[in-house]
Amino acid sequence: MYIADEKRYEKMTYNPCGDSGLRLPVVSLGLWHNFGDTASYSNMKELCHTAFDNGITHFDLANNYGPAPGSAESNFGKILRDDMMQYRDEMIISTKAGYDMWPGPYGNWGSRKYLIASLDQSLKRMGLDYVDIFYHHRMDPDTPLEETMGALEQIVRSGKALYVGLSNYDGPTMEKAAEILADRHVPFIINQNKYSIFVRTPEENGLLDSAVRNKLGVITFSPLAQGLLSDRYLNGIPEDSRIKTDGRFLKQEAIDVESLRALNDIAQNRGQSLAQMALAWLINKDAVTSVLIGASKKQQILDNIKATENVSFTAEELADIDAIAARYNDFLKK
Ligand code: NDP
Repeated sequence: MYIADEKRYEKMTYNPCGDSGLRLPVVSLGLWHNFGDTASYSNMKELCHTAFDNGITHFDLANNYGPAPGSAESNFGKILRDDMMQYRDEMIISTKAGYDMWPGPYGNWGSRKYLIASLDQSLKRMGLDYVDIFYHHRMDPDTPLEETMGALEQIVRSGKALYVGLSNYDGPTMEKAAEILADRHVPFIINQNKYSIFVRTPEENGLLDSAVRNKLGVITFSPLAQGLLSDRYLNGIPEDSRIKTDGRFLKQEAIDVESLRALNDIAQNRGQSLAQMALAWLINKDAVTSVLIGASKKQQILDNIKATENVSFTAEELADIDAIAARYNDFLKK
């Protein structure tokens, strides 16, 4: 029987999510990888327990996480039922819909039909009455924003989500959506976007500035660039790494050892691992509410939460990191 560590709330910082009343742990755990049916159930359970024991109250899912799609939600539901449901009110559980989930025209994108059916399926898989945050997972160029936002409104009104969020939106589209949701008094509190030392899209597409201006939270996904920004690939490609075990989303071609080693040198001089520095670099930013990590091993979670021990950077460190990131992005273009 799992009993959570009594000291769990002494180990974590909780940031207000924009100007809402919700506080999120500065480090959150995502279940995109390592929670599907091909992964070890005992390991996923250990990851959830380790996270929660260390104050990580926020678990992020999506309808399509697996493989197979839906299996991460089913496995997380099993973990809850096994021994974590007693802590449900201490957890912030999110899910999303927006990517390909089932065949035909109603299993994708942003129609009212899809979002409402998908959340009903997600709740069944997880064995929950409601999620804390429900996201629209990506912008849909073909569905009117009013319809997608109307679906989010209906979801909140029906009690199936407490708050809503938008993921992978750019600044201008998010602002239009925010206006619609504010008019309808829907608690839109958070944006989920890919952001790291290597990926600066939310800086470039206005999302970060818009989020700050609208007093909204930002949770950054793939903060370690799927593991590149760690010691994983400094000396070859380990057999148990994401590139070797999955290979769908992170590919060998993304490795530029020279950039990784240069960043690692800066991290070592700061007394941090590269993963810790990559997370600290994000946590240091006022716009960032939480960094949304993935993990294949318990120890990675334990190492990553130590990022909070040093989150200040000198101007010189920041300039060096920017220069290496620019070099890395040039490398990707070749
Ligand atoms: P990360 O960038 O944190 O990558 C996680 C991977 O990095 C781990 O699986 C592990 O890879 C490696 N790693 C983590 N910590 C360490 C460490 N201390 N030392 C060495 N290696 C480490 O995030 P993810 O790409 O996994 O994304 C995180 C979450 O973001 C997802 O689970 C999901 O919830 C969300 N997300 C949202 C998306 C969206 O569209 N909204 C899209 C993608 C993700 P290894 O397997 O090699 O050990």
